[in-house]
Amino acid sequence: MIKISHLSKKFGNLEVLKDINLDIEEGEVVCIIGPSGSGKSTFLRCINQLENPTGGIVEYEGKNLLDKKCDIRKFREEVGMVFQRFNLFPLKTVAENVMMAPVLTKHMNKEEAHKKALELLDKVGLKDKADVYPNTLSGGQQQRVAIARALAMEPKALLFDEPTSALDPELVGDVLDVMKSLAKEGMTMIVVTHEMGFARDVADRVIFMADGYVVEEGKPERIFTAPKERRTQTFLSRIL
Ligand code: ADP
Ligand code: MG
Repeated sequence: MIKISHLSKKFGNLEVLKDINLDIEEGEVVCIIGPSGSGKSTFLRCINQLENPTGGIVEYEGKNLLDKKCDIRKFREEVGMVFQRFNLFPLKTVAENVMMAPVLTKHMNKEEAHKKALELLDKVGLKDKADVYPNTLSGGQQQRVAIARALAMEPKALLFDEPTSALDPELVGDVLDVMKSLAKEGMTMIVVTHEMGFARDVADRVIFMADGYVVEEGKPERIFTAPKERRTQTFLSRIL
């Protein structure tokens, strides 16, 4: 579904991504782990072109996204992104936040969009919060609204960049549960995370990145119990 070949990215002289190769199949959940500064966020941002890669190819369903003729807006409609900071619109209600993108970009009528927003809020456990403003919600609830907002576009895949890193520890579980249920429903997901329990339980594949490289990848069971590379061993021994 998404195929990354020889992806590289430089900021000036700083080489942040070095020859990254990764194929993501439809329905697959890939977790990316690794130390801070290793290029994980830049990698996700290069996938949906929030950053321009310096080299390499990013293909989505066989089309090269770096091709000038490619409609990147279409890709962003189909592949949603959830960030560490949820950036909900403070002057819109929760339901309005969820409805906004389909109304604006898909010209869905408001009644239909509102109905859909309520369904999605129900799905993330927040139906009763539809009419309140985001600042009355906890961080974990706001992040679940952000997930509902991404789902409103009916994406085929979702990219998550440390969706629980900004949350108080007691709020992390509810967000991970929503992500877990999406994974169960077959959503294709690339998740940058420090939640090793989540990666172990939910990922089909774990990618360990360090210094701009994919150092090691494999089934979670193997990566967490028998990492082959020294870098992976050191990283995991520090956090597990
Ligand atoms: P991670 O998400 O793994 O913590 P990042 O992708 O955020 O890593 O960053 C990788 C490296 O790229 C870091 O050294 C960071 O300082 C650098 N970097 C990220 N974004 C920029 C930018 N816009 N300009 C310059 N350097 C950047
Ligand atoms: Mg990051």
